[in-house]
Amino acid sequence: MTQNTKNEQARPSDEARQGLRSRPVAIIGYGSQGHAHAQNLKDSGIDVVVGLREGSARRPAAEAAGLRVATAEEAAERAGLIALLIPDTAQKAVYEADIAPHLDGTKTLLFAHGFNVHFGQIQPRSDVDVIMVAPKGPGRLVRREYKLGQGVPCLLAVHQGASGQAWDMAMAYAEGIGGTRAGVLRTSFEEETETDLFGEQAVLCGGVSELMKAGFETLVAAGYQPELAYFECVHEMKLIVDLIYEGGLNGMRRGVSDTAEFGDYGAGKRVIGEASRTAMRELLAEIRSGSFARRWIGEAGSGFEQFENTRRDQREHPAEEVGARLRAQMAWMGGET
Ligand code: NAD
Ligand code: MG
Repeated sequence: MTQNTKNEQARPSDEARQGLRSRPVAIIGYGSQGHAHAQNLKDSGIDVVVGLREGSARRPAAEAAGLRVATAEEAAERAGLIALLIPDTAQKAVYEADIAPHLDGTKTLLFAHGFNVHFGQIQPRSDVDVIMVAPKGPGRLVRREYKLGQGVPCLLAVHQGASGQAWDMAMAYAEGIGGTRAGVLRTSFEEETETDLFGEQAVLCGGVSELMKAGFETLVAAGYQPELAYFECVHEMKLIVDLIYEGGLNGMRRGVSDTAEFGDYGAGKRVIGEASRTAMRELLAEIRSGSFARRWIGEAGSGFEQFENTRRDQREHPAEEVGARLRAQMAWMGGET
C-alpha cells in the first residue's frame, strides 16, 4: 500500500536531478497547476518550455512570467519530460495529436492526476516512463508557498518505469516545484484517482454543498430570514473548516462553545446516518468500476450538454442570490460576488 517517504528519501538522486536539467521540461497548459509548475521549475533553475494552443489566451501571462512559449507539439518534441497540465477531459485529444508522436524511450510523461491513465484513456508506449506528481492544493497555493521558501505536499506515483529512473524523476520534479519541502507521499495511479474522485464527490464538493443547501432550505422553509440561514449554514463553514485545518476535529471542538460541542455530538450522526454511508459506498463502487469515468467521458464527448444545464440550475439556487448580496456588504471581501 502507501508508504510515507517523508524523512526517508525525500530527495532525488543527483543523477535524476541532473537528468531533469539536461533537457527542457515541457509544461502543457498554463492554468491552475501549469502556471505554478512552470514558474517554480524555472525559479529552481530548470529549463522550461510552456506548450499552448495557437491563439491561447494564456500566452501573454506565460510570456510576462519570462517563460518560453511554443505549441504543445514543439514543446513535446524538444522536452525530456512532458507534464500534461490541461483539463482531464482535454488530455486524450492533445496527447494523441501533439504528444504521442514525439515520445520515445528517453522521455518521461508526467500527470498531476491519474484519471486518464488509470481509466485507460491514455496508454503510452511501454518504454516511456509515466509518473505522477500531484500537489495536494490548487496552483495558486503551489506558487505562493514556493515563493515563501515552503511547499505543498505532493502525491507521487509511477505507472510504468522502464528506465529505472522514474521514481527519482518524480522526486526531482517534486523538488523543482517545492513539494519535497513539505513532504511527499508514495501512492499509485489507482489509489490517487479513486480517493481523489471519492473525496470531491462524497465530501468536499458534493457532500458539503448539499449539506449547506439542505440546512439553508430547512431554515428558510421554517420561516427564518434567508440572510440568517445563509450566515448559519453557508458563510460560517469557513470558520469551522479553518479550525479543523489548523487543529483537526479536536481543535475545532476546543474552539467552539460547549453548547455547540454538545449539540454536535448528538446531531451529526443523525444528519449523516446509515443512508449517507450507504450512498458513499455506492459512489465508491461506481468510481472503482469505471462507471463514473464513463459517464464523465460521455459528457465530454457530447459537448457537456447535461453538465452545462445542471451548472446553470445550480447557479440559480436561492442561497447564491442571498450570498452575493451579503458578500457585497462585507468590506474584507472587496465587494466580490
Ligand atoms: P486548468 O483548467 O486550470 O487549466 C487548463 C489550461 O489548459 C488552460 O489554461 C489552457 O492553457 C489549457 N487548455 C484548456 N483547454 C484546453 C484544450 N481543450 N486543449 C488544450 N489546452 C487546453 O487545469 P488544472 O486545474 O490546472 O488541471 C490540470 C491537471 O492538474 C489536471 O489533471 C487536474 O486534475 C490536475 N490537478 C488540478 C488541481 C487543481 O487544484 N486545479 C490539483 C491537483 C491536480
Ligand atoms: Mg483532489
